[in-house]
Amino acid sequence: MTNMADKIKGCLFGVACGDALGATLEFMSREEIRKKYGRLTELTGGGHWRLKPGEVTDDTKMTVAVARGIVSNPVDPIPCIREEFIKWFQTDPPDIGTTTKIALNLLTEGLTWEETAGRVMEIRGEHAAGNGSLMRTAPVALAYLDEQLIRDMARKQSMLTHPHPDALFACELYCLILREILTGSGINSAIWSMLEREDREDTYHSFLQNAGESEIDSGGYVVSTLRTSLWCLLRTSNFEEAVVKAVNFGDDADTCGAVTGGLAGAYYGYKGIPDRWKKAIVCRDELSQLAQELYRIRSKKA
Ligand SMILES: [Mg+2]
Repeated sequence: MTNMADKIKGCLFGVACGDALGATLEFMSREEIRKKYGRLTELTGGGHWRLKPGEVTDDTKMTVAVARGIVSNPVDPIPCIREEFIKWFQTDPPDIGTTTKIALNLLTEGLTWEETAGRVMEIRGEHAAGNGSLMRTAPVALAYLDEQLIRDMARKQSMLTHPHPDALFACELYCLILREILTGSGINSAIWSMLEREDREDTYHSFLQNAGESEIDSGGYVVSTLRTSLWCLLRTSNFEEAVVKAVNFGDDADTCGAVTGGLAGAYYGYKGIPDRWKKAIVCRDELSQLAQELYRIRSKKA
């Protein structure tokens, strides 16, 4: 496997491993986690969703939907991504987020994404700034090289369900950091260089420099999730450490795990993810296949 293929596969498996590990802890407080698990480091399943070990949730399934949409039509992926979201929605997923559910109901009824975005903002207001589009945006930066195209696609895939400006910016920033990592930057330099260039309102920069562990909020607000993930990546030195740190804050643990795992997986590579986790992921064949296809799309554009 080339280095790039290893990074792309690492990113998709990183999302899935973070999701599967964190799902056990979703909705739990740090104190509850400490009492019940000490520190969770194994894909045990269970938790609120009573999952099997290695089973993934909406974070990975929607990431797969974005990847499939891009693979079906790399030139104009948004209509395909929309179709993939609707297909997933029709499986009646128990763990679908509230904003995503409202949006996919409207899209299923045949509203355009522009109409849907307007309605979602009316209905959800500030709650439209959840992390539901950030958790699935990674494939955009895996498939495309052009910076402007990555910016546009990251925002457009978010617009389908999460049109709030905080969600759009988080998706864009995440993909730009991922792009830096894929082109060879270290994790710290990728994060700080993109924040210096992009984070004009200091949503992230000061927090990441100054916040202590007690200030971490691992809830569902998109800014909290991205802050938590970057904070963990900056303070750890391998895949397992980063993801374990992110999920053990609890609350929206699977999404913090998935978002952290995507960047960590791209940086440390597929080879950097513990074997015991990779082997446990139930959808591993599908992830491997999609990683190959995304790599092919990326290579054609090189
Ligand atoms: Mg989830």
